[in-house]
Amino acid sequence: MVAMSTGGSNDNPIVVWLRSDLRLADNPAITHAVQSGRPLVVLYILDDGSSGLRSLGSASRWWLENSLRGLDQDLKTIGGSLVLRRGPSARVLDEVVTATSAGAVCWNRRYDAAGIAIDAALKLSLRARGLSVSSFQANLLFEPWTVRSRAGEPFRVYSPFWRAAIATGAPRAPLAAPKRLTAPAVPVASDKLEDWSLSPTSPNWAAAFFQSWTPGEAGGRAKIETFLADGIGHYAEDRDRPGHQSTSRLSPHLAFGEISPFQIWHATRMVADQEPNHHRHAEKFLSEIGWREFSYHLLHHWPDLATNNFQSRFDSFPWSEDDAAVAAWRRGKTGIPLVDAGMRELWSTGWMHNRVRMIVGSFLVKHLLQDWRIGERWFWDTLLDADPANNAASWQWVAGSGADAAPYFRVFNPVLQGEKFDTDGGYVRRFVPELARLPAAYIHRPWEAPSNILVAAGVTLGQDYPYPIVDLAHGRDRALAAFESLKSPTNTANSA
Ligand code: FAD
Repeated sequence: MVAMSTGGSNDNPIVVWLRSDLRLADNPAITHAVQSGRPLVVLYILDDGSSGLRSLGSASRWWLENSLRGLDQDLKTIGGSLVLRRGPSARVLDEVVTATSAGAVCWNRRYDAAGIAIDAALKLSLRARGLSVSSFQANLLFEPWTVRSRAGEPFRVYSPFWRAAIATGAPRAPLAAPKRLTAPAVPVASDKLEDWSLSPTSPNWAAAFFQSWTPGEAGGRAKIETFLADGIGHYAEDRDRPGHQSTSRLSPHLAFGEISPFQIWHATRMVADQEPNHHRHAEKFLSEIGWREFSYHLLHHWPDLATNNFQSRFDSFPWSEDDAAVAAWRRGKTGIPLVDAGMRELWSTGWMHNRVRMIVGSFLVKHLLQDWRIGERWFWDTLLDADPANNAASWQWVAGSGADAAPYFRVFNPVLQGEKFDTDGGYVRRFVPELARLPAAYIHRPWEAPSNILVAAGVTLGQDYPYPIVDLAHGRDRALAAFESLKSPTNTANSA
């Protein structure tokens, strides 16, 4: 990889083009650039929807601004700085290469179709100009084309995928962060981060995010250290309880590449080796990292995962259109406490617990019969961890249209789910404060509470808190009937 036969002398800089890998540790492109002996131009391009790439959602833009700020500070402590440019990535990269007389370019690989197309074309054009170009595996433990079924096909089912992936060999050890890097002799012009206006201002709906999150590499390190010290020992049981801080909350850090799956893998294994009681929890946790790998496997092999049904028979699914119901869902005003708590957790913190994501997703798609793509787009805009592979694959999983998906006829009952996983109602009380004084027996079903209990809790249904926008039993039956209609031979043939 470190072939320097092309690309001018070692005085010509190397451009390290960062994308979803905003970290210094375990960053193979940065390590390669430092080892090349050339001065480093560390570049981030805000492509922002040009070049066929999907525009970042609003919450992700807030995270990105803070992550880039942290990365620039980290680079400055080792002698570098971050160069920011905006525009179509191929054109901008070309301009930076020309302006700096760069002799080499490197990056870590990405796995979405638009990104791959840009990178493949750039590899050819830059090499044709005599530059040395290198790309690296950094953000997935197992690149999608390296894991195949016995028949040589991509996997459609998680368990055999994960078994086959692990059987290809242990993930490599993480790389250390560079201690020092050489900057180009002439400073490279950079946009000002503030000029990109990534964070919201009026209103600043993201102000409270800092209470829950510290974007950047140090924040990601702190999250895994806390999780491995306090959370891993009961992860397998507690990970389904939304009222407990029992999962790692690493997802935004992973989405922006502030921590790598290799770092997570080895740190987790080390803790499990030291404490045998943690072993099964560690395996469960790493199997969730495996779901992320599987999502990328799917996205790579089925590039339109965010827009097209994985199972084409769902193309004829009779979705209904109900803007008022969707608005109530988005605002956390459906009258179903667990659904509303989840949607308000998302709005106020930029994140939602995994079990609740499944429940609000099922409610939208099944009880309200709304197209899963409506939910996918809302999550894309509001989640700090919005991830092109995980979000698309998970929504299709919820809808039943995906690979290895929840069967369509399995409709989550949000009341029973609440009573099982938020038994004391603590999660609902936190995010739906108007119900806070209801006893646990009614907190997930306030419409069944006797009037004296409602009065004592200070709740007038229809005023302080809505009645359910759909009768749960009716919504379930309607969803099952819609699904049944898919199974008729005519529809199956039409959707093939
Ligand atoms: P942990 O339980 O600590 O898991 C560690 C890591 O494993 C996560 O950070 C994540 O990278 C990965 N992971 C965990 N569960 C899953 C899963 N079911 N599928 C894929 N990867 C997983 N995750 C995202 O990162 N971005 C999304 O945009 C996203 N959208 C989702 C939409 C829906 C409808 C659903 C049901 C799930 C979605 N998920 C998404 C998956 C999951 O909910 C989150 O990854 C998880 O809640 C993040 O919290 P954590 O980091 O504490 O998870």
